[in-house]
Amino acid sequence: MQKENCIFCKIANHQVPSYTLFENEQVLAFLDLSQVTKGHTLVIPKQHADNVYDLSQADAQAVFAAVPEISRALQQETGAAGMNILSNTGKVAGQSVSHFHLHLIPRHDKHDGFGAKWEVHNDDYTAEELATIAESIKNRL
Ligand code: AMP
Ligand code: ZN
Repeated sequence: MQKENCIFCKIANHQVPSYTLFENEQVLAFLDLSQVTKGHTLVIPKQHADNVYDLSQADAQAVFAAVPEISRALQQETGAAGMNILSNTGKVAGQSVSHFHLHLIPRHDKHDGFGAKWEVHNDDYTAEELATIAESIKNRL
C-alpha cells in the first residue's frame, strides 16, 4: 500500500522520476540523489514499510534477493574496492525518509566520503553478560 506524501512510494509508483537501475514487481532500485560515492544506490520495497520493524518477510526477501545482482553491477561499473550496505532505522540512526531502504555505497578508500563511527566495547561485557544478553533477545524471537 502507498503511504500519502511518501516520496519513495511516489517513486515506486512512477509519480516522481528517479534514476532507476532495477525494477521488478516488488522492488525498485534507483540512484540516491545525494551521491556519497558514484553509483550510490537505494533499494526499496514498492510496498510501503516505515522501516525494518514493519517490513514484511516477503518484501525483505525480495529486497535482499535483488542486492547481489545490483551490487555486482555497481562493482563492475565503478571498479569499487568494496561496498557498504546499510539501512538507517529511526532518526537517531540517521533515517530521513520513512520508507524502508537499503543504501548500497561503493567504496574506494577510507577518504571517499563514507564514514561510520564504530567504537567497540569488547571489554565492557563479560562472557556471562554476553550470554545473558543473547538469551534475553532469543526469548523474544
Ligand atoms: P536515509 O537518510 O537513510 O533515510 O536516506 C534517505 C536518502 O534518500 C538520502 O540519502 C537522500 O539523498 C535520498 N533521497 C531523498 N529523496 C530522494 C529522491 N527523490 N530521489 C533519490 N534519492 C532521494
Ligand atoms: Zn512509502
